[in-house]
Amino acid sequence: METPLAFPALHASHAGIWMGSNRGQVQTIGKGEAAGRAAETPMIMLNAPLVAQRLGYADLSGLDLLELYAFVYPARFAVPTPKGLAKALDLTAPTTDQDVPQFLILAARKLLSVLVDPSWAEREGAWDSAQALMRLRWPWANLVLAQLKKPERPERWLFSRLPEWEEAPPRTPPRVVTLQAEAVQQRLAALVGGSAETRQGQRDFAQAAANIFAPRTRKGEPHMLLAEAGTGIGKTLGYLAPASLWATAADGTVWISTFTKALQRQLVREAKRIYPDHETFKSKVVVRKGRENYLCLLNLEDALQGGFAGRAAILAHLVARWAAYSHDGDMVGGDLPGWLPTLFRRNGSTALTDRRGECIYAGCPHYKKCFIERAARSSVQAEIVIANHALMMVNAARGRDEQNRPSRIIFDEGHHLFDAADSMFAAALTGQETIELRRWVIGPEGKARGRRRGLSARLADVASYDEEGGLAIEMARLAAEALPAEGWLARLSEGTPSGPVERLLAAIRNMVFARDETNATEGGYGLETELADPDAAVVDAAADAAIALEALARPLTVLGQRLEAMVADPPDWLDGSARARVEGAMASLSWRIDTVRSWISMLARAVGPVDPEFVDWLAIDRFEGREMDIGMHRRWLDPMKPVAEIVLKPSHGVLATSATLRSGGDWKNAEARTGAVHLDRPATHFSAISPFDYTAQAEVLIVTDIKKGDPAALAGAYASLISASGGGVLGLFTAIRRLRSTYARIADRLARDGLPLYAQHVDPIDTGTLVDIFRDDPHASLLGTDALRDGVDVPGHSLRLVIMEQIPWPRPDILHRARRLKNGGIDFDDRIIRAKMAQAFGRLIRSAGDKGHFVLLSPAVPSRLLSAFPPGTPIRRVTLEEAVNSVKTGLPPVTEFRQETDDRLEESNPI
Ligand code: SF4
Repeated sequence: METPLAFPALHASHAGIWMGSNRGQVQTIGKGEAAGRAAETPMIMLNAPLVAQRLGYADLSGLDLLELYAFVYPARFAVPTPKGLAKALDLTAPTTDQDVPQFLILAARKLLSVLVDPSWAEREGAWDSAQALMRLRWPWANLVLAQLKKPERPERWLFSRLPEWEEAPPRTPPRVVTLQAEAVQQRLAALVGGSAETRQGQRDFAQAAANIFAPRTRKGEPHMLLAEAGTGIGKTLGYLAPASLWATAADGTVWISTFTKALQRQLVREAKRIYPDHETFKSKVVVRKGRENYLCLLNLEDALQGGFAGRAAILAHLVARWAAYSHDGDMVGGDLPGWLPTLFRRNGSTALTDRRGECIYAGCPHYKKCFIERAARSSVQAEIVIANHALMMVNAARGRDEQNRPSRIIFDEGHHLFDAADSMFAAALTGQETIELRRWVIGPEGKARGRRRGLSARLADVASYDEEGGLAIEMARLAAEALPAEGWLARLSEGTPSGPVERLLAAIRNMVFARDETNATEGGYGLETELADPDAAVVDAAADAAIALEALARPLTVLGQRLEAMVADPPDWLDGSARARVEGAMASLSWRIDTVRSWISMLARAVGPVDPEFVDWLAIDRFEGREMDIGMHRRWLDPMKPVAEIVLKPSHGVLATSATLRSGGDWKNAEARTGAVHLDRPATHFSAISPFDYTAQAEVLIVTDIKKGDPAALAGAYASLISASGGGVLGLFTAIRRLRSTYARIADRLARDGLPLYAQHVDPIDTGTLVDIFRDDPHASLLGTDALRDGVDVPGHSLRLVIMEQIPWPRPDILHRARRLKNGGIDFDDRIIRAKMAQAFGRLIRSAGDKGHFVLLSPAVPSRLLSAFPPGTPIRRVTLEEAVNSVKTGLPPVTEFRQETDDRLEESNPI
């Protein structure tokens, strides 16, 4: 059934603006007129923030089809473009910009007609949700309610509809088993599929991986394998074969940790081959992420009951619709459309997760339905847990559950382990960090809203039962008043800091401004200086701040001891749920005590000797000239040291693998970057080169006539190459500033030729969705920075040219300088650069059928860096004109190409 809709539709791209009426007329209009008409009449549009940006009119609002889609199909995937929506709704996609407005009207009708379809699967809860959305003046509410029939019986509220998780008995330790080579190969063959041929490299890889499951011979000495497997080896199935075999035979759990969401999704797909039955899969395979990824039901309830206002409240209701149909409640990279929060300019979405460690565990009315608790429990019983490096590090450092610590671990994308550890074991004594602690201890002050509660409110029953515990809470509350409070940044810039920690931050700010030497090149961005020879003001303020922090650490420690004693010798009132709450409080308390202790030891460095294990510096974080945070930072010189102690040594078997594990260096480099160097039992090594024919499938072009520091020439080069390729380009930048300036210069021009250009840091769309859009349209191109260099998996024609704007030199900051000094100077830099170039090149050829060019815009690339590319890849130094011609011509068919390549290689000998 079709639904009459009287509203016009608006479509804006870089090529122009079109408005269509419901009678079928379409006209092109100017930006000013479009903004004016949209202010008078609600218009149907697709992705209002994106349309607003194209119009240059930030306040644009209207009937956004994506919001309606999220209401009708809450947890279903759709690429947020006319083509993507057409696919999701089974409509014919428009072929030109001019056709889009009529398509939008058609899509709106189709979505509204679903509401009266008796087979609509997501009906439950829709009526109540639409009523609430009407009260919030959601633009679609009237149209939706005109279609919906009031349910005959009242519907269950979301919080009663969600299933409860069940407590399972503790798992017995895994059995001792030895995997037979033949069984591993049989399992691999079964996973690869009867008709497909397993490759020798993959078979060897599986066999090598099986060795990490051998029984351990000495405590603290795991079997560790470092395996570099070129793209296309099929390493995922290669390690899943022995891992699944061991997990079943030993009744144990294997943790597989990735760095990117793309690989995490791929692993889920591949793991389905092991457990094809859906129910078995659900019980055997669990995806785990950090708790900040999941919806917190208590925060959602607060938002639905008036904690959020305006647009944020509308988002909360659409998220509640989604929560009822979500597979696992994962808001970041799960089945919540990545574009949904950006439609609301991310307003409110982070407040729906548990970002600040406010969880009250068993004290929460939704504890038994909590998505986070359910995921944690399922992983105890699972055979395969798919996690990420960040979660592995957090669990290791702050894990509450000693018994269920991962004992067999596979780190895929192992070249990122170092960076994950580096962030996890970093310490920062800054304004933002300290004010967070103040809020955690004291709770809301002044006009603060929300459900956050301070320590004394959270532990009121403890305080009334245990006098010493109650006193410790009160002392901690008083001591926390020495920490920065709301408005600290303004007070610092006005020269009126309040309290010892704000005075320290003020002294740091003065010292950084006085000593920073980077401002000349990066105006408006971060400033920093070494913590060496600090001036007297910093030394005095550090001593006072250390006293204030000690005064806070002491009562927190006493409180922790009182809680421990209470759990050891429980009073009558401490029933199961109160106990779980107290244990939850103990875990978050010990994390805070560790944080305060690490701050005190950083301050000791300010007034005392250097600790050679750490790099310390002072910094002012700025964004476009605005100060965001100020403070003191500390990193391990080698963050893999703590990882080796708390992750590697306690485990029985570890595999670290990646296509670029040696990061352009040797095995020594891989050992250092994975922490294997700190083990007593040496790690074993395995390598298999990619089966792809890089000589035929790819060509590297080094463009030598684009001068560095010429934004017009850089943009011109991108435009010519994207035009020559007809789109399908991934453009990588090392600086957001240059990305934005290139985008601004070329997006309109390309759009007029039917070549849409998208960009990270410009388009109001999250990175995952940008990649989905890029993948879906072979004429689209995408510009981005680091996250795209290593997180994009786009096999096939959609990605046929990668452009790198220059050699990816490491940022010459204080931390880099310290590590460079320790690790071999220029060789260290070269390894980093080669690794980045190899990762970028790795985006190009993802399957045996892929072909494409890799263009590096740099007048002088030292030959020693070219080993970043796989052996056999043709490399030429060319002018832009030659590069454009090569891209336009494309790579010849494989047989002719081989001959030509041989000739060319000889010409290219100087490289
Ligand atoms: S248990 Fe914690 S994370 Fe889960 S819903 Fe309750 S407060 Fe939120």
